[in-house]
Amino acid sequence: MKLLDGKTAIITGAASARGLGKATATLFAEHGAKIAVLDLDLDAAKAAAADLPGEGHIGLACNVTDKWACIDAAAAVLEAFGQADILVNNAGITQPLKLMQIEPENYDAVTDVNLRGTLYMSQAIIPHMRERKTGSIVNISSVSAQRGGGIFGGPHYSAAKAGVLGLTKAMARELAPDGIRSNAVCPGFIATDITGGKLTSDMMDMILEGIPMGRAGEASDVAGCCLFLASSLSAYVTGSEVDVNGGSLIH
Ligand code: NAD
Repeated sequence: MKLLDGKTAIITGAASARGLGKATATLFAEHGAKIAVLDLDLDAAKAAAADLPGEGHIGLACNVTDKWACIDAAAAVLEAFGQADILVNNAGITQPLKLMQIEPENYDAVTDVNLRGTLYMSQAIIPHMRERKTGSIVNISSVSAQRGGGIFGGPHYSAAKAGVLGLTKAMARELAPDGIRSNAVCPGFIATDITGGKLTSDMMDMILEGIPMGRAGEASDVAGCCLFLASSLSAYVTGSEVDVNGGSLIH
């Protein structure tokens, strides 16, 4: 059964080949959705869109920390598709720093992409969703937000992703009367390129030791959860945080 026939989805940070955004875009496309891949680099976004199953997907350059870039991207999506049913705020960066190593530029970079970007891209598309009285917003947070880090990202990453949880819940409350749902996904450790070669084998052993299921997550594990939250299977779910962590945090 196709769950997203006739739907369109905007997915930020979806150009990274092994990333959660690309896996989510692929699964949504398999379920019949038209996808707008947004990422920093236009060519990479276009290439990722062309690589998705089915026809008619688009790739756009959008730095989510730039409010006007988000507004422009939303307008381009509406021009291309005529509607936007789903937004997945997936763009994110992380840094493996300890508390006292966080410099102002580290704080700004990590908080801006993860938290400010989630706010700006949501603000860019909410007026359209409000007009149509329908929409599903899925924000990618992290288990780091819930357990205070201890995976890879530093305290500034935990704080930014905890901010995403608060924003998700506040949006859910405010947008529910307009038929728009807002939920968060909290992945545990998923093997992608976000660690930028900085994941040591000691770190990996420590992480695996803390996962009852005994394996790192896969991007498709997160994509499945995003599909549930984006589709009408979750019609009465809003303001929730859904764990995809192999049991690494059971609470
Ligand atoms: P990734 O590095 O593979 O992909 C992230 C993408 O975001 C990249 O394509 C990058 O170009 C894009 N991006 C970065 N800054 C951007 C900006 N300012 N505007 C637009 N796009 C931007 O990482 P991933 O592991 O796929 O991570 C996806 C999301 O999942 C992130 O929000 C991350 O924090 C979150 N997450 C990942 C894990 C994990 O273990 N991989 C765990 C929990 C949460």
